[in-house]
Amino acid sequence: MAGATYFRILAERVRPPAFNALFLFVTSRCNSLCRTCFYFDKLNSRDDLSFDEIRRLSETLPSFRKLWLSGGEPTLREELGEIIALFARNNGVRNVNLPTNGLAPEKLFRALDTVLAGTGEGVAIDVNFSLDGLANTHDAIRGVPNNFERTLEALRAAESRYGHVRRIRRNVVSVITSENYQELVELGLHLAESANASGHYFEVVRGATPDPGMKRLTRQSLIGLHRRLLPFHRHYARRLFAHLPAGARQIATAYYLGNLRLHFEVQERNFDAPTRWPMRCTAGQTTLVVDHNGGFRACELRGVAGSLREHGMNAARALASPEMRKETAAIGRDGCWCTHSCFIHESGKFSPRVQLFEIPWAWWKQNAERLPEAPAGELDRFRNLELA
Ligand code: SF4
Ligand code: SF4
Repeated sequence: MAGATYFRILAERVRPPAFNALFLFVTSRCNSLCRTCFYFDKLNSRDDLSFDEIRRLSETLPSFRKLWLSGGEPTLREELGEIIALFARNNGVRNVNLPTNGLAPEKLFRALDTVLAGTGEGVAIDVNFSLDGLANTHDAIRGVPNNFERTLEALRAAESRYGHVRRIRRNVVSVITSENYQELVELGLHLAESANASGHYFEVVRGATPDPGMKRLTRQSLIGLHRRLLPFHRHYARRLFAHLPAGARQIATAYYLGNLRLHFEVQERNFDAPTRWPMRCTAGQTTLVVDHNGGFRACELRGVAGSLREHGMNAARALASPEMRKETAAIGRDGCWCTHSCFIHESGKFSPRVQLFEIPWAWWKQNAERLPEAPAGELDRFRNLELA
């Protein structure tokens, strides 16, 4: 039974490269002042795509599974719920990644209600609340007084409103920086003890940030931190897959933890110097990034290849354009590298080597690891949560 489940999951996972994910900067509007923001010089411009332009984008894209929303603060986009429903209807999107700073919960809930009413059970949403440290650190990084408390309140309100809806997952995402890396374990423990989130994910700061000091971390400190963060992933994996029958649960958990451990490793190896990924980056081939104003790119970290507006918002033409072909050729030829887990994840989906060998091996490694030395008291809290 477990064997049949394994082969079914593998058949779903090992597939030839095909367009799979749209990264859409759904608005440039933002109500935060994050010193980690790689999009800061484009925020609050007046040239956001209209709903009709986004409709045209959707109509000219093939079917694809994953919609990664970005911005700006996505909840400040008036028609956010309608836009998500549009891609679910026209393109068969199955999973939506919706980051939020949690400062406008009423807008977030309005969008989620619209999606629930306008899409079927097969469409799942990961709502990712940003929390970049404990209260003082988070507020100082994000430039908004009382931000931490407001976001935590929004997370709890989302839990009481959607806790019974399995297809809406309420996660926390923390960006690892020089200012918070020493308190992220404490944040993780605090959230595991007091909030009922579906997951807690950690991403290394990336891109050109307004405060370059945010990136003053060492590879060694990142490795040390990652090893202490893995128990949180085990904790949330238990919850995430609790509803599955035993065999499927074991396999899903192994792939989930192996994937996350692999992301950590690739990020560590590429933190301050390039090291070849275990797979080719498929940015621009299986993914398309569309900026708030229709600029299109292979990935969030490379330059704009062209403007969809100049292609009549026709995404098929943009994907087949000489500019985009030049970009994807350059990515392969130049051995492009970065720590961007969304693209590590998207690229790994099309690599038999990653699916059949790297993920299971990473799972085995994390399984064999013990929690590194921890300060007195911390270990007890890990044990209380059955994380150690
Ligand atoms: S990181 Fe997000 S929330 Fe922060 S300023 Fe940038 S767009 Fe706004
Ligand atoms: S390796 Fe990173 S920076 Fe290079 S194309 Fe892929 S996602 Fe973009």
